[in-house]
Amino acid sequence: MNSTGPGSSGTTRSPGVRERILGLFTLRGTVTEAEPVADRMRRLRLAGPELAGLTVLPGQQIRVHVDGLTTRRTYSVWSHDPEGSLDLCVYDHGGSGPGAAWGRSVRVGDDVRFGKPEGGFVLRPGAPHHVVIGEETASVALGAVLAAVPDASGVHGVVQTATAAGRLPLAHAERLHWQVRGDASAAGSLELADAVRGLELPDPARTPGAVAYVAGEARTVQMVRGVLVRERGWDRRSVLTKPFWTPGRRGLE
Ligand SMILES: Cc1cc2nc3c(=O)[nH]c(=O)nc-3n(C[C@H](O)[C@H](O)[C@H](O)COP(=O)(O)OP(=O)(O)OC[C@H]3O[C@@H](n4cnc5c(N)ncnc54)[C@H](O)[C@@H]3O)c2cc1C
Repeated sequence: MNSTGPGSSGTTRSPGVRERILGLFTLRGTVTEAEPVADRMRRLRLAGPELAGLTVLPGQQIRVHVDGLTTRRTYSVWSHDPEGSLDLCVYDHGGSGPGAAWGRSVRVGDDVRFGKPEGGFVLRPGAPHHVVIGEETASVALGAVLAAVPDASGVHGVVQTATAAGRLPLAHAERLHWQVRGDASAAGSLELADAVRGLELPDPARTPGAVAYVAGEARTVQMVRGVLVRERGWDRRSVLTKPFWTPGRRGLE
């Protein structure tokens, strides 16, 4: 509908005006593919001319206007084609939050507004060892990082999912420890922290430059960082962390 059409008011912003304002600050893509990629996880391809030539560092995220307007949720870029598309993987946590609802309902042909790729939870190129730790939502960013890790580098880590069918196809998958948590909560996950205690890791004193990437539920991330730093002797600066969600909080970014 046109903003200058009959019934438009001088004070209330019409859909056309809102769309133009949004266009100044966001990119627009169209959903060209939408398919289940794992249990409760949907892969969405956003494509369009505004995505051509976009720079995305492995691990970066975009903020999506999940209601088409002001409500935003953040999603890691799973993969990216500089010709003009990027893929997200959205986890359905089963609640009624706007992010999960968008991930369930968005269809091929829908237009999506989002911000430019951002964030510092990214691959440290040239690190001799990469350690990745997290659950389903984290596995998207961890997967983007792993896809850029050369075969000659050390790869270690634990990826936790509710079910084995919830696993994303990650590069170097055979070098990771995969944990199934079943009905246990992913929040404050003692199981994940314990798995990190048992991981075979490079000795931090002998392998300068090794890096750990820890993401997912905020309390779990904190616990895992504690295990790496206090129990496994890792330098704080070598452990990159990113809380993605936590019970009782809406849209952490
Ligand atoms: C940097 C960053 C990257 C992210 N990348 C991804 C990604 O690649 N894929 C992805 O699916 N999500 C990702 N997220 C999480 C995403 O932004 C949303 O938080 C998520 O989709 C839930 O949104 P919501 O609106 O449904 O719930 P919110 O309004 O955000 O949260 C409401 C409540 O829902 C519950 N909840 C939210 N998430 C979960 C969960 N995973 N498991 C169980 N309960 C939950 C909690 O109780 C929470 O308090 C990322 C977040 C950040 C900050």
